[in-house]
Amino acid sequence: MSPLDLLDVDSSLSAEERQIRAVVRQLVDDQVRPYVAGWYEEGRVPARELAREFGKLGLLGMHLTGYGCAGSSAVAYGLACLELEAGDSGIRSLVSVQGALAMYAIWRYGSAEQKQRWLPTMAAGEAIGCFALTEPDHGSDPASMATRARRDGDDWVLHGTKMWITNATIADVAVIWARTDEGIRGFVVPTRTSGVTVREIRRKMSLRASVTGEISLDDVRLPASARLPEAVGLKAPLGCLTEARHGIVWGALGAARDCLETALEYAGNRTQFGRPLAGFQLTQAKLADMAVEWSKGYLLALQLGRLADADRLRPDQVSVGKLNNVREALAIARQCRTILGANGVSGAYPVLRHANNLESVLTYEGTSEIHQLVIGQRLTGVSAFA
Ligand SMILES: Cc1cc2nc3c(=O)[nH]c(=O)nc-3n(C[C@H](O)[C@H](O)[C@H](O)COP(=O)(O)OP(=O)(O)OC[C@H]3O[C@@H](n4cnc5c(N)ncnc54)[C@H](O)[C@@H]3O)c2cc1C
Repeated sequence: MSPLDLLDVDSSLSAEERQIRAVVRQLVDDQVRPYVAGWYEEGRVPARELAREFGKLGLLGMHLTGYGCAGSSAVAYGLACLELEAGDSGIRSLVSVQGALAMYAIWRYGSAEQKQRWLPTMAAGEAIGCFALTEPDHGSDPASMATRARRDGDDWVLHGTKMWITNATIADVAVIWARTDEGIRGFVVPTRTSGVTVREIRRKMSLRASVTGEISLDDVRLPASARLPEAVGLKAPLGCLTEARHGIVWGALGAARDCLETALEYAGNRTQFGRPLAGFQLTQAKLADMAVEWSKGYLLALQLGRLADADRLRPDQVSVGKLNNVREALAIARQCRTILGANGVSGAYPVLRHANNLESVLTYEGTSEIHQLVIGQRLTGVSAFA
């Protein structure tokens, strides 16, 4: 049992869930942990190679059924996200965007032909997907998006720009959301289509082991069959975000766990004033508070996962998890950083990398403020933002 699991939450996991967790933890130990500090420093990540490895293990779209997907439980998927993000938030993002955003959009809203064409290769990690909702001038308020899709005969013609898109420059296929005369619709766009230009966003100070890009759509002509037939209105992309946010609720705990384990070990080994840092009451107070928050977050994630497995998870409940667990994970990462002193800012330790990554996780998939507003609306019945 992990010393961090103060409440023995692990005992509520099934044998299969623990088994999946162990397999992903091993994968991260072997294929991510030894290299990720270097990827982060260089701002590059071998995403395609990793995707193939993840595909072999069934991690891509693992909670979806059919088309080569593993069909695992929401809790097992969450545990996988936790382990991946204990490696790095960017690595979990690769898996989340592929499975919970791009694949889920096609799986949930796509035609039989779209599913057959894309899902098996995406599950295998042979094809990479991205999910393009955000625009340069429209982030938290996607309802006001400027990207247009207009009919031209049987075809659709897309025009606009999408910004901050994870996996964009390595993607074979983009799920693009655009405004039509009938409202917001989704399109499955092979990235080699004429008129699609992708540019990498460099100089990120966060999520550096993750590919992020801008997608320009210059009168991109698509056949009628490119539209996701079941995606009607903004609730379609928001449904995908609910899926992905559930993974983040768990994932953030992974980053926090890695920071806490690092700080615990460091505090046990580092001596000042003739005793280990772990022997100072102020250090213990920090560690205790962080472990309590971590345990609460774990309970919260498990409750949401069980609700998802019972098909009863509401978007505002996911907002509770995303708001709390990312906010607390970031607070834990920053506090752990203090325990490591100067070494806390060194790339030789993972703590500041996790903290920097969590700044992005705090913002994407709905900022903390937006999740507060979602919860506020649930409580009061009044929407403060729509
Ligand atoms: C590394 C990274 C990867 C990303 N990957 C993707 C991706 O794959 N696909 C995708 O579509 N997007 C992606 N995003 C974009 C992300 O989802 C947006 O950045 C996010 O939705 C916030 O939008 P914004 O940055 O435009 O901020 P804004 O919406 O401009 O918000 C700025 C600030 O104002 C606050 N604010 C806005 N509206 C309100 C309000 N009504 N009340 C109170 N406060 C408010 C926000 O909470 C925030 O603090 C990614 C972002 C990052 C950083």
